[in-house]
Order: sequence, then structure tokens, then C-alpha cells
Amino acid sequence: MAAKTKNSRPGFGRASDRTDGVKHIMKCPNCGAEFEVSESECPYCGYINPGGAEAKFMRGLEDKRRELDKVDDEAREDYKSEFKKGAGSTAKKIIIAAVIIGLLILGFIAMDRMIFNRNQDAKAEMVWEHENFPVYDEMYENEEYEDLMERIANDSEDGHSVWNWEDYDEFMAKAEELWG
Ligand SMILES: [Zn+2]
Repeated sequence: MAAKTKNSRPGFGRASDRTDGVKHIMKCPNCGAEFEVSESECPYCGYINPGGAEAKFMRGLEDKRRELDKVDDEAREDYKSEFKKGAGSTAKKIIIAAVIIGLLILGFIAMDRMIFNRNQDAKAEMVWEHENFPVYDEMYENEEYEDLMERIANDSEDGHSVWNWEDYDEFMAKAEELWG
């Protein structure tokens, strides 16, 4: 399949993700495009890269954990000022630890589902493009401009990535010329 570069959105490599200055490139299992392993998703088709997504998620979690630590410290200080040191702060610590573990588990479940759903969507969209863009090509070649415009409008309303069609920009310019 020919790589689509015209209307795709190239990603920007984040310098902070590269520790050794070497770019680690991987091939997208969905569309075959190449991007950095640290990217959480393919910048061309939206396929989630589990390794990159997990690293991003863990960074977010670490931030959350730090916030919770701060809350824990503040709570303990309040507690100390009201009661004698002892069971109170330990119980509070256990509760907070349980909350963190709960958040971790929920986070992993949610992330797993999100990755699965997003990748299913990306795959389905690739299949949709494969089936529909040749029809666009045919209509365009046969100069069925009005029908094509209506079809693109409907497909766009249905949430399809019509702008990935390789002649999309050209056809929109043509439409502007015809009916603008
Ligand atoms: Zn891809």
C-alpha cells in the first residue's frame, strides 16, 4: 500500500523522551508508517503504541502519586496538631495506600480498554478508507462532482476520515471553484 504523506499529520519527537539522543524507530503494525517508539500513538493512523502509551501513563501516575504524597503529609500534620501521635496517622496512611492501589488498578483497566478500543477504531477506519477511497477516485474520474460532494459530506458526518483521501484538497478546491 502506498504511504500517504500528503494529508497525514507527522508527529513531533519529544526531546525529553530521548535519553541517548538516538532515535528509536518502529513500524506501525496497522499502517506500516514509521515513528519513534516513545510516541504513544501512530501519528499517521492513530494506532496506539502500547509501550509508548504505558510510559506516558506511568509518567502521569507518578505525578498523581507525588500529589497524593503531599496530601498525605499535610493530613498527617493536621492530625498531629489535634491528636497524639499514633494509630490515627497509620490508619490514614493505609487508607491512602489503598486508594493509590485502587487508582492504579482502575487506571490499568481503563488504559487497556482504551488501547483496545482505539486500535479497533483505527483498524476499522483503515478498512473503511480501503473500501471507500477507490469509489471516491472513480466518481472523481467520472466527474460526478455533485454526487461525490454529497457522499463526502455524509461520510464526514458519520465521523469518517474523508480528508485522508489523497485528492481531498484538490477536490475541495475544485468544489470551491464550482459552487463556492
Ligand atoms: Zn499507523
